[in-house]
Amino acid sequence: MTLTHSILQNLISYPILGGQSNIEIIQYIKKYLHNLGVGYHLAYNDEKTKVALHCRIGPAVDGGVILSGHTDVVPVEGQAWDTDPFELVEKGGKLYARGSADMKGFLACCLANVPNMLAANLQKPIYLAFSFDEEVGCLGGPMLAEAIKNTYTEKPKYAIIGEPTLLQPVVGQKGIAVFETVVNGSAGHSSGIKKEVSAIHEAARLILWLENKMDELIAAGHTDGRFDPNHSSIHIGIVEGGVAHNIVADKCRFCWDLRTIPRDKTAYILADFEAYCSERTQILQKRFSDFVIQTTPHHPPVPPLDTPEELSIVPLIRELTGVDKLQTVAFAAEAGQFSEGGFEAVICGPGSITQAHRANEFISCEQLDKGTEFIQRLVDRMCKE
Ligand SMILES: [Zn+2]
Repeated sequence: MTLTHSILQNLISYPILGGQSNIEIIQYIKKYLHNLGVGYHLAYNDEKTKVALHCRIGPAVDGGVILSGHTDVVPVEGQAWDTDPFELVEKGGKLYARGSADMKGFLACCLANVPNMLAANLQKPIYLAFSFDEEVGCLGGPMLAEAIKNTYTEKPKYAIIGEPTLLQPVVGQKGIAVFETVVNGSAGHSSGIKKEVSAIHEAARLILWLENKMDELIAAGHTDGRFDPNHSSIHIGIVEGGVAHNIVADKCRFCWDLRTIPRDKTAYILADFEAYCSERTQILQKRFSDFVIQTTPHHPPVPPLDTPEELSIVPLIRELTGVDKLQTVAFAAEAGQFSEGGFEAVICGPGSITQAHRANEFISCEQLDKGTEFIQRLVDRMCKE
């Protein structure tokens, strides 16, 4: 068994879901680093229930690379697993477990290379940065990027976020924002619909406005051929409201998500929506003075990633992967947050996203080996910088 394999086996045994305390898995990582004589820093959430870890290996100089990954995984509930999802099982050249691809495989590749990093004559430092709560809205990412900026006087230049891309370099990612909109109307007999304000009727108007907004952006040429689909999408996934067919509904709530291509800004789209909401509110408050529409974000929006080809991380990642073609992905990741934090960021890690978040998630032994070699090449490269 390789060192990467045995570290992955340990990481898998901590069944920490997004939203849960990750203290125990960080404890394991702390111990591993401590045994190798590596000092680290911790950044806790306000409740001290979750913690991000970061450390620097190599000289205290500007530049170098952050290797970033999340310690949480998605739930296994309702999925038909053939094996225990929290035990790494090898079968036919594949390693099965929750988080094997997304993305404890990458963490294991990084950790297994720490002895190499320590033995190498690094000219530029390598930072490890392990976050929490990525799977519930990339909540830990901004805090980690901030902690790195505040902890070290010297500034790292690059960030590689090791989400599973089959080790293909990814320079673009859509942003995502999730909202809940609540409409408060007036209750009454359905025959009085012209006197009352139905929260459901108004919610329907708002929902159609959002769908039209998406189509308007597309018609105005807001497309980006690097993404599939090539436009920002707006989708309403939950609608709740009403009691009976003959009662005007005084409450209706709906949840929606907005996935933006880099050129569309979440804040602008939301401001347009809010403007329409206040237009409707002004009209309807004449009929029912307590009429109100409230939209709240589920979590801070996750920014898109759009790393231009001119940045020097692009030739670096091409060299490390041996792949010229740059890709984009549809899933949200912490890369946009690191990019906003001032680091040149790409997504590149072992395993496939098509295996992630589903039953019988796996990473192939080959991908795990290649991931380990990928980090090894990075170590060699940072000796030559
Ligand atoms: Zn992930």
